Amino acid sequence: MLKLYPLFSGSSGNSTYIEFENKKGILVDIGKSAKKTHDALRARNISVNNVEAIFITHEHTDHISGLKVFISKYNPDVKIFGSAGTIGSMRKSGYLTDKNNVFEIKNNQVDLEFVQMKSFSISHDCAEGLGYTFTSKSGLKAAICTDLGYISKDVQSNLKGSNVVVMESNHDVMMLQNGKYPYFLKRRILSDNGHLSNDTCGKFLPFLVKNGTKNIILSHLSEHNNIPDLALQTSKYYLEQEGMTIEKDFHLSASSKEVPPEKFYSIEITT
Ligand SMILES: [Zn+2]
Ligand SMILES: [Zn+2]
Repeated sequence: MLKLYPLFSGSSGNSTYIEFENKKGILVDIGKSAKKTHDALRARNISVNNVEAIFITHEHTDHISGLKVFISKYNPDVKIFGSAGTIGSMRKSGYLTDKNNVFEIKNNQVDLEFVQMKSFSISHDCAEGLGYTFTSKSGLKAAICTDLGYISKDVQSNLKGSNVVVMESNHDVMMLQNGKYPYFLKRRILSDNGHLSNDTCGKFLPFLVKNGTKNIILSHLSEHNNIPDLALQTSKYYLEQEGMTIEKDFHLSASSKEVPPEKFYSIEITT
């Protein structure tokens, strides 16, 4: 069993919870406050004590801001994983202390008793960003792939065969170009170290579906340069161009900043 819960998404904070057999689970990123994260888990009947590990993609605050308090207040035993570069940056800025259970990821792999994690590099303006895939004991695979400027061959091969993918669809290029962001920021977002546009994401999705992915969650949508419906329509367009039919061949959703209680959802995959 593998159950993925989108908790928060976008530049105001990112966090995803994935649950495996025996209710053991992991968080990928903790970009909202510890209290908000705790409350979001509790509202879904998940205890903070079931969070065995937190995998950090990179050190930008929208991915780590709740980390310090979450460890000290809610779960002192939780294991923290990240690349050497990410861990180094977080130590420098005081997000981690020597007392914390921190592990640098070696050889792109971590084996916990209930899940095997494989990581891959993402191209982003941070120290050493990572995307992650998590494979359950029964072979079910979930992937988290946000905060990247382009999709490398390595990203493609790591995502291949995932049952569910959380995929960045950050901005609509026209909205960004015509929007009010300063020029340097527009350039940063559009660069190879920035974020994926709706079109870049959409063009890539048929590859995933052809390789068995049934569930795609568009994520890290920009508040100012995107609209959930536009992101969904763009991806749907590219998938349908390749002859794929929504709900028959794949399920597509767009994650919101903060899912309101009446719209809580999770994606459960069983063998
Ligand atoms: Zn970032
Ligand atoms: Zn981010």
